[in-house]
Amino acid sequence: MATPKTFAIRTFGCQMNEHDSERLAGLMVADGMVPAENDADADVVIFNTCTIRENADLKLYSALGQLKAVKEQRPDMQIAVGGCMAQKDRGEILERAGWVDVVFGTHNLSAAPALLKRAREDGPLVEILDAPDPEANRDMAPALYAVRELPFAAWMTIQTGCDNTCAYCIVPSVRGEEISRPFDDLLREAEMLVGTGVAEITVLGQNVNSYGRDITKRGPLFAKLLRALGEIDGLERIRFTSPHPKDLRPETIEAMAETKAVCPQLHLPLQSGSNRVLRAMRRGYSAERYMERLNSARDTIADLAVTTDLIVGFPGETDAEFDESLEVIAAAEFDSAYTFIFSPRSGTRAAEMTDDFVADEVIRERFERLKEVLDRSALRKHEAREGKREEVLVEGPSRRNDQMLSGRTRQGKLIHFPVTDEPLRAGALVMVDVTHGAPYHLLGELSSVVRGPRHKVRIALLRS
Ligand code: SF4
Repeated sequence: MATPKTFAIRTFGCQMNEHDSERLAGLMVADGMVPAENDADADVVIFNTCTIRENADLKLYSALGQLKAVKEQRPDMQIAVGGCMAQKDRGEILERAGWVDVVFGTHNLSAAPALLKRAREDGPLVEILDAPDPEANRDMAPALYAVRELPFAAWMTIQTGCDNTCAYCIVPSVRGEEISRPFDDLLREAEMLVGTGVAEITVLGQNVNSYGRDITKRGPLFAKLLRALGEIDGLERIRFTSPHPKDLRPETIEAMAETKAVCPQLHLPLQSGSNRVLRAMRRGYSAERYMERLNSARDTIADLAVTTDLIVGFPGETDAEFDESLEVIAAAEFDSAYTFIFSPRSGTRAAEMTDDFVADEVIRERFERLKEVLDRSALRKHEAREGKREEVLVEGPSRRNDQMLSGRTRQGKLIHFPVTDEPLRAGALVMVDVTHGAPYHLLGELSSVVRGPRHKVRIALLRS
């Protein structure tokens, strides 16, 4: 029997890309290939690219540059570039890196295996679609075969694209307008995933809480989807990312509160707490409106943890506006936050605001002050968990200490607890008593085992 060809996937960017890479790996495995130990040995290397940040190009072309010499030694090796940068740059990638074999986009990921075969016959290929192929979009295979890092936790894409026009964001131009996947397809996919032993599903979209608006042409279906997923027997945890604050509706908050499987965790990107900056960002809400929605969610959903995204140094942001923003952020008491330094992305409105770019040293100083405010509220939130008993989905041995196990609470918090005589494996559900709250994680003691793992062990994916 011929030795199967090997592949490696380098993933850049967000969870959507992480999930796309899992699906890509599943397609390559279904095509008879196996994951390689590392890029240099792989017969096929696929780059799943991101284009959010300015240096994304630099990262990709330096990685491609490193592989040029390897390919000269092994001319049979194939290199493919997919994802958001491929969708944006298209044939330009072949012009800049002529040793690449295939360029495919965000809408035709499932074509990758076939394109690689064709390129072996016909030479380098560029195939980009401007919108998802509805039939390919309904194909369940990529999700079923997806090679997940955590076999008991899965991502499920419910929508592609985004109809918003945030001034700093390139996503709408590379992922197109919002297209929701059919409601019944999502329920079928979720049932199928639970059937393979998945206990937790995170639904993915650029703007999940507007899911279904393009189907109904009226209101979104997101609240209805959460409730329907909550009916699936065996689905213990439902999470979602990313909602948009302006579309966070009361029925979604109620569905979160009333659906047992929906975890008490809300990621609600604020970006800035200054109304003038929010307008310039074209975010579509004020700081007051944001806080209203946040407080309504906290009042309705018990034990809710809230995380956010924040940008420092958006063009034109003054000292006074940054102070204003810090006040709102302090008042919001976030459990944690992803913080970004503004990065002009060509093709966005904000990239044109060159006269108003904020000086690097000013941005660094603001970033430090923001970190202080966030660390203070994160520590307070974690210390408040001390003495509580948390339900934890075990992810495996701690990366720092193999005498400790790690997992996630229902709020999504990372918790570590000592190994005991109890033979616990990844995917087990346990109760842990919290003994200490640290800024970025919790520590605890095992209290009891709810159940053992339910999934079948699958192949692990390489991570970049
Ligand atoms: S909501 Fe705004 S930031 Fe998010 S993907 Fe859409 S345009 Fe980009």
